[in-house]
Amino acid sequence: MDNIKVIIEKCTGCKLCVKKCPFGAVELVDKKAVIRDNCNLCGACAEACKSGAIEITRKVIHADLSAYKGVWVFAEQKEGRIMPVTFELLGEGRKLADKLGTELAAVYIGEKTQGIAEELFAYGADKAYIAGSPLMGLYRNEFYARVLTRLVTEYKPEIVLVGATVIGRSLAPSVAARIKCGLTADCTGLEIDTEKKILMQTRPAFGGNIMATIISPNHRPQMATVRPRVMKRIAKQAGRKGEVVTVDPKISAEDAVVEILKIIKPEEQVVDLQEADIIVSGGRGIGKAENFSLIRELAETIGGAVGASRATVDAGWIPSYHQVGQTGKTVCPKLYIACGISGQVQHLVGMQGSDVIVAVNKDPSAPIFNVATYGIVGDLFEVVPLLVKKFKEALK
Ligand SMILES: Cc1cc2nc3c(=O)[nH]c(=O)nc-3n(C[C@H](O)[C@H](O)[C@H](O)COP(=O)(O)OP(=O)(O)OC[C@H]3O[C@@H](n4cnc5c(N)ncnc54)[C@H](O)[C@@H]3O)c2cc1C
Repeated sequence: MDNIKVIIEKCTGCKLCVKKCPFGAVELVDKKAVIRDNCNLCGACAEACKSGAIEITRKVIHADLSAYKGVWVFAEQKEGRIMPVTFELLGEGRKLADKLGTELAAVYIGEKTQGIAEELFAYGADKAYIAGSPLMGLYRNEFYARVLTRLVTEYKPEIVLVGATVIGRSLAPSVAARIKCGLTADCTGLEIDTEKKILMQTRPAFGGNIMATIISPNHRPQMATVRPRVMKRIAKQAGRKGEVVTVDPKISAEDAVVEILKIIKPEEQVVDLQEADIIVSGGRGIGKAENFSLIRELAETIGGAVGASRATVDAGWIPSYHQVGQTGKTVCPKLYIACGISGQVQHLVGMQGSDVIVAVNKDPSAPIFNVATYGIVGDLFEVVPLLVKKFKEALK
């Protein structure tokens, strides 16, 4: 247990600790600091104390790391269909497992289970834990977190990967908190330190200005969420075999704390940028909302989806689900056309994995040209209509 104590002889009654405590957990009694029960051992008081009168002892619990083996991927599903991020994570998980010389397993929780394991094997899993139940059709945090926590505790994987989707962002921290391990959210790179056999988890930090590599040397499993479309799936190997572990979710309807009354799907057909092979994006350079018609026309001509920079979303020119970048979607299309986008790092982290990038910008020094495969220096109001014309002619 962590512990905090005041060394009375050293305390000068200066009150610095009282002022610094964010929780009001330090008070002065007879001119000496006293720590109250609501202290959460954050250490702010000890740091502030100039006379070294507050001492915190922290007990680092080292898990038996050798007991943890294997790489796991949470196989996210919607309406019984495995989500594409699962295949991407299996592709990455396969590489990590091979480097560690261990097996790759997928954990599926859902109602429909037929054919699921075979699909997971075809994309690289050696083993599939299948927890099927009519109660598991729709995502409910408390059910899914309980099942995954129980499996992780029982089978002890060394790495657990979850998609940084709406579901994954709810599930992964719930599980990590229950098993008291760390979690690196929104990773864009995963590697194995072959010497220490630990997972190096890289993600943008400080507004995308640095890439931080995070390790979890003392605890297991090493848990990470990874954004969709960041990792590449491996080619499907139909007929590839693996081991199926059928799991009883041990959940009953009475365990529910949330009742799902109705699923309301959006009326407007929301673009699925992450699935699009071609994206044409508009930035502040388009000038006003109405000019998105130009971007839409180019996108429609070549069968693409419309993307946007945050500047245009913030200006209210286009809904936020079109936004590409750090606080938007990460996309990886075959072709990404950026029109009037400067190429700030927060935009680039969301699209620089695209196969071919075409940038249209009137400023030749715009940073977007640093990542562009083809750069067109020019006014987008001239270039985009020309592109539309040429594509229409070519596609006739
Ligand atoms: C924490 C944080 C998260 C963020 N997340 C995101 C994110 O997810 N996605 C994102 O996009 N941004 C994000 N941003 C904002 C980001 O820093 C930039 O402000 C934003 O990307 C700029 O958008 P833009 O390129 O459209 O606009 P600008 O930077 O203003 O660039 C407009 C460009 O258009 C060009 N231009 C102007 N007129 C024309 C013309 N007629 N023809 C051709 N070119 C023209 C200009 O030369 C300029 O390069 C984030 C910022 C922060 C701090």
